Amino acid sequence: MKIQRPTTVKSARITGPNQPLELEDADNPSPQGPQVLVKVAATGVCHSDLHLWEGGYDLGDGTFMKVTDRGVKYPVTPGHEVSGEVYLTGEESGGYSAGEKVLVYPWAGCGSCPACRAGNENLCDAPRSLGVFQNGGYSDYMMVPHHKYLARLDGVDPEAATSLACSALTAYTAIKKANANSPENMVIIGAGGLGLMGVQIAGAITDATILCVDLDEKKLEMARKLGAHHTLVSGSEDTADRIMATTGGLGADSVVDFVNVTATAKVGIDILRKRGNLVLVGLFGGSLNISLVTIPLKSITIQGAYTGNYDDMVELIDLARRGVIKPVISKRYPLEEANTALEDLRHHKIMGRAVIKP
Ligand code: NAD
Ligand code: ZN
Repeated sequence: MKIQRPTTVKSARITGPNQPLELEDADNPSPQGPQVLVKVAATGVCHSDLHLWEGGYDLGDGTFMKVTDRGVKYPVTPGHEVSGEVYLTGEESGGYSAGEKVLVYPWAGCGSCPACRAGNENLCDAPRSLGVFQNGGYSDYMMVPHHKYLARLDGVDPEAATSLACSALTAYTAIKKANANSPENMVIIGAGGLGLMGVQIAGAITDATILCVDLDEKKLEMARKLGAHHTLVSGSEDTADRIMATTGGLGADSVVDFVNVTATAKVGIDILRKRGNLVLVGLFGGSLNISLVTIPLKSITIQGAYTGNYDDMVELIDLARRGVIKPVISKRYPLEEANTALEDLRHHKIMGRAVIKP
């Protein structure tokens, strides 16, 4: 049976900072060359979608980095955690055929810079990420620019798989960086979409004793279920002292900060043990004064982690297939309620991830 091209594609689009997303119909999607039209099964709602909707990032000291200054052009269809099935391919199918269940790798790069040539398109000098710089998956069909950005799910539930494209992928990159030179006490700050994947991945790939920290006890309860050895409600003046006490006064060998506001980054540095490793991931933002001598005297490492590469996403699909990691999907919204989904995430009403299901 020949598959009919859909005559329209319905998407929820960001038209400008803090403006309600608008439903828009586009005509006659027709994949060309290596493009693939994917029928969307589910799209994860990431906190980065909220930053995109708000128009940028808090740099601290009252300054703001606009996403439009980084090359985002509104209107744009957000959504970078997208699973679905191959609906139509262009002339180059890349071996994909209609009906195959796939996850979309969203961190597309230019293909020619040093990072892209090394297989790390997520670190491209001129990123073209899907759902950020190009249209993403808040849509019933998504035009993926190249079949190389697809990975087969082979039995992994498409809804759960969405998290593997960003929250798990980013956590995987960050936990690997955190464990590189400091494997013992690992403090994970934030038990949201990323943090809950981080706890599971740390449990799966390290021997660290995991202490997870968040403002919300309900999220910490989930972190314990997923393998955190200790949890601690943060936000008070004595947060660093209480973490130190939990580590027997030693401090953290590594800290992964999935929030990365001034308060959490300060705690991260304060609790870092000699030789420790701080990995900053969250984009909540702010700024921090650091006393410079402590960095060499304690020989600490402070580094950033940004999403992950295609090969790691494929590894995560395998870990999910084997049940080693289990994405937490707690809420589902139709495309028409994309605004509510983002508002609910903003107001801390989401455990793990919510998905949009067109
Ligand atoms: P989320 O909204 O699902 O979770 C955030 C969690 O942080 C919540 O559990 C919340 O209670 C907790 N929190 C907020 N403020 C806190 C504080 N001051 N102290 C302790 N806990 C606090 O968000 P998410 O989707 O997990 O994303 C987290 C951050 O990571 C966002 O800024 C997002 O844009 C960013 N992000 C970064 C990358 C990257 O590659 N670096 C990738 C994806 C997302
Ligand atoms: Zn994301």
